[in-house]
Amino acid sequence: MFAEWTVVIGFYIGAAIGSFLNVVIYRLPKGMSLWQPPSHCPNCNHRLGVPDLFPLFSFLLSGRRCRYCKKPVSWRYFWVEIFTGAVWAGFWWQNLVANEDPVRFIVLAIFGSLLIAAIFIDIAWYIIPDSINAWLLLIGLLYNVWLIYANSPIAFTWGIPSAIAGALVGTLALWGVAFLGRLFFQKDAMGHGDIKLARGIGAVIFVAPALLSFGLAIAVGAIIGGVQVMARKRGQAEEEIEGDYDEEPESIGSLLKCGLGYVLAIDAIGQLFPKLDKWWFGEEPQAEENPEDDWQPTITTIPFGPYLALGALLAAYFEIPLLELVDSYWKWATGS
Ligand SMILES: [Zn+2]
Repeated sequence: MFAEWTVVIGFYIGAAIGSFLNVVIYRLPKGMSLWQPPSHCPNCNHRLGVPDLFPLFSFLLSGRRCRYCKKPVSWRYFWVEIFTGAVWAGFWWQNLVANEDPVRFIVLAIFGSLLIAAIFIDIAWYIIPDSINAWLLLIGLLYNVWLIYANSPIAFTWGIPSAIAGALVGTLALWGVAFLGRLFFQKDAMGHGDIKLARGIGAVIFVAPALLSFGLAIAVGAIIGGVQVMARKRGQAEEEIEGDYDEEPESIGSLLKCGLGYVLAIDAIGQLFPKLDKWWFGEEPQAEENPEDDWQPTITTIPFGPYLALGALLAAYFEIPLLELVDSYWKWATGS
């Protein structure tokens, strides 16, 4: 459909989107408007001009400092732009160069951008905003409407729309981990944001790739997370580690009620009707308005959201070879 060199265009559009995602990552958890005021330096408040808004180049050419007050700009701005550019380039190549599927490209480019915002917000604040999870669900459902309209063979799974099947599997898989962890270990094993994120992932990439992405998330998380915990533990005294699990775990009743709420997407619909959200979930689980409350991450707190999102990006991109691998392993293991 497009020539190979156009991947460069895909990359640079992605980097520009990454530039906007930096605004989302900075403002969304604080409940600030994404559109007003226009971009400005958080230190000197000087409004950014046209020369400051070229993705990657502005950052590098300014010597990674604000042009007005000379305060260094966080590397995060640069990495988010590069990362988003790379994800867009990958999906661009896959769906616009190697294949001809512009709708899938648009869906995956939005999907990837939302996941990148979720990754960096979760790293900084230990939350995944409900609005991001609601958008993921919506994008998946809209994509499914298109697939049904286009008579696609992947539009339905088990006789129901694939996005709904994927959302259900995603919710139940992670909610199941949370439930079993609470039941057998009396611990909060999974954040509610992670359950809703998994629902959105299932809605966009459907059942088999979603399950694959959860496996990838656990594998990547076990490796990186294990290294992180070890590195942090070495730096801290033993007695501080002991006090980790003082907090009362969530009640089984609340977990059941929230799980049903996520299956019914009450949190997502609640983005439009906040009263509905409050009525079902109460005030508590929505930490979005006030991420700076007294909750402190403990030494073993590892946000799982970034791994879920990374796993989903890998599964979306390498879906076909990875599923073939699983399939041939299954045939080998069962001797068929
Ligand atoms: Zn400045």
